[in-house]
Amino acid sequence: MSGHELRYVQEAFDSNWIAPLGPHVDAFEQELAAYTGSSHVAALSSGTAALHLSLILLGVSQGDFVLCQTFTFSASANPIMYQGATPVFIDSEPDTWNICPEALEKALKFYTNRGTKPKAVIGVHLYGMPAKLQETLALCEKYDVPFIEDAAEALGSSYDGQKLGSFGTFSILSFNGNKIITTSGGGALLAAQESPIAKARFLATQARDAAPHYQHSQVGYNYRISNVCAGIGRGQLMVLDERVRQRRANFLHYQRTLGDLPGLTFQPESKGSFSNRWLSCFTLDSDKADGITREEVRVALERENIESRPLWKPMHLQPVFAACPYFGDTVSEQLFANGLCLPSGSNLSESDLFRVSDAVKAVFE
Ligand SMILES: *Cc1c(COP(=O)(O)O)cnc(C)c1O
Repeated sequence: MSGHELRYVQEAFDSNWIAPLGPHVDAFEQELAAYTGSSHVAALSSGTAALHLSLILLGVSQGDFVLCQTFTFSASANPIMYQGATPVFIDSEPDTWNICPEALEKALKFYTNRGTKPKAVIGVHLYGMPAKLQETLALCEKYDVPFIEDAAEALGSSYDGQKLGSFGTFSILSFNGNKIITTSGGGALLAAQESPIAKARFLATQARDAAPHYQHSQVGYNYRISNVCAGIGRGQLMVLDERVRQRRANFLHYQRTLGDLPGLTFQPESKGSFSNRWLSCFTLDSDKADGITREEVRVALERENIESRPLWKPMHLQPVFAACPYFGDTVSEQLFANGLCLPSGSNLSESDLFRVSDAVKAVFE
């Protein structure tokens, strides 16, 4: 927290706007729209809720296929199951670690040829790194399949000068406690058109029809954010760019101190891409590192009471999704086998950062 949040929360308390919608929700939506450049925003209870509503709005239901990046957090894929549809997992490419356009096209071709056009493609910007959007969006257009942009980890990042969260037919953000800014728990659904976002707000408030009594003609959800949490979000938005600077400074420290270690490669930032560096991550090629493995580094850090974590385990390797189709090679599997996320909090001091980088270096000495 930056301190600004408390002012907005106090305002909510002073005006007694506690339950559940209110002026902070409207203002938070407008501020998110202004920041991302996405015209319409519904502030919600989580990023997962935003993904779920995007699938509902696209008409995803039982028997449908939805193509989804395999290298991600499970929340990207779970909502496909909520709708009774089948996730089809797509490998990553090594340049950005995000959805591989070649594997994506194979899957699009396969299903289109069978006359079962996928209902959507879910792509992610992992650890804040922009995906290959130009290629991915061109494929979605060519095969006429909507793109859902999971920008949960990527608020503050941009691609060709345009903020992430503004590229999808629907885009989603998360303000969960671990993300670059947080409302404790929260999320947002973003789109260029107003009508689907108005529909999302309707569905997210129990699908209540306009009537003096409680009238419902559709299944609804309780997916809106509260006025108190939206107040926290407004305070957090004021320091978002500062958070991005802090996260990028963490990354720069790690790159400067560890970048020359043999076999160690940081997540690359391609030309035209700007990452918020939500997490600083690297892969370790143990053949080039005298046999040192990622796991040895992780355990060595743990011994120093420093928490680090392997990169996301791909969804096609998860027991819960074992029966789902998969298109691609072993890029995401190798990222999982060899990759590590370093401590990346916005509040790390310079001595914290040196403690981490010295501990990593010590493994190599
Ligand atoms: C955090 C996250 C989500 C889910 O957001 P919640 O607000 O926690 O529901 C979805 N996708 C990715 C890639 C995430 O990291």
